[in-house]
Amino acid sequence: MPKRVQSPSSINTYKQCPRRYFYQYIIKYPTKANIHTVRGNIVHEALEKFFSVDISTFNDESFKKELSFFMKNLFDACWAGASNRLHKLGIDDERISFYYDESTQMLANWLNHLFDGLENEMKQSDLSLQEAFRKLKPIELEKEFKDKELMVRGFIDVIHKDGDDIILVDYKTSKSSELKDEYLLQLGIYAMLYEKQHGKYPVKVGLWFLKDKPVMLKVTPKLIKDALFEVEQIHFATESERIGDYPKKESGLCRWSTGQCDFYDICTRER
Ligand code: SF4
Repeated sequence: MPKRVQSPSSINTYKQCPRRYFYQYIIKYPTKANIHTVRGNIVHEALEKFFSVDISTFNDESFKKELSFFMKNLFDACWAGASNRLHKLGIDDERISFYYDESTQMLANWLNHLFDGLENEMKQSDLSLQEAFRKLKPIELEKEFKDKELMVRGFIDVIHKDGDDIILVDYKTSKSSELKDEYLLQLGIYAMLYEKQHGKYPVKVGLWFLKDKPVMLKVTPKLIKDALFEVEQIHFATESERIGDYPKKESGLCRWSTGQCDFYDICTRER
């Protein structure tokens, strides 16, 4: 049986519940969209498109106001473009409006960090606004990496270059800014995927917790070794196509106060 292509998210699903992995990645039952994934996609889209802004006409006095205005319009357009997906979720307008407001706050927080970075570059390195913007602008956005040897793929939200150093960043819209094991695995995998394609590891990897702040880590041999171990484990554990080889792991992820696992109904009918 050839190896399956894995991703940080498939590995995490397996670790949460092998049976859930079986339904999602082997049988390929469809999963349902939820407000967190739809909102996350909209925020990612706005952040990706933001760097297309033409900074050349902005000046030192008004750039904050103008960039905020640009981001607000961009986000509103992305939100409007997702209106069908949002309404299909079947949640009330009040809740949708809560997520809209929360998302605008996240983007304002992200912009404030960018403003600090721009001002810092302008003062410390004596750069013009346009030069500072070019320096902080990512070299790539939403880049897919796939490696045939590792049989892993992943989407890296942001790739920055600082001199010769490469820094990979993933945006998170999650409630908590805790650096969970699943995030360390994701970052380790991204560092490996980058190295496979470019022949050198990034110097840092990090998560931009949009409700809070960015958290950066040095890429260490341990980060890579742990990620490689998990990749080898998942390939070994998912060779089979028999349901019995994917045990149920019951937890709070089966059912909670406002929802349930996408496969709850079928799962409770099968042994
Ligand atoms: S309902 Fe629970 S045990 Fe069943 S697949 Fe979902 S998470 Fe796993």
